[in-house]
Amino acid sequence: MRQKRCDNDNHGRAIVTVRFCSHCGAVVNARIRAGRCPRENHATMRRAQSTYCVDCGEQLVQAR
Ligand SMILES: [Zn+2]
Ligand SMILES: [Zn+2]
Repeated sequence: MRQKRCDNDNHGRAIVTVRFCSHCGAVVNARIRAGRCPRENHATMRRAQSTYCVDCGEQLVQAR
């Protein structure tokens, strides 16, 4: 259970261009369809320190 408040910018923004928050994996804009992404995308996001994929919501980094 993730009850912690997420302080990612995506939550406070009026216009969110991604479906999922990269920090907590919550849906921040349900109007955007979840996409399927190529593996390279996830690798890039992981390097950018994203915990979740903003397009498909997949968890990229295992929680410790
Ligand atoms: Zn979040
Ligand atoms: Zn993805």
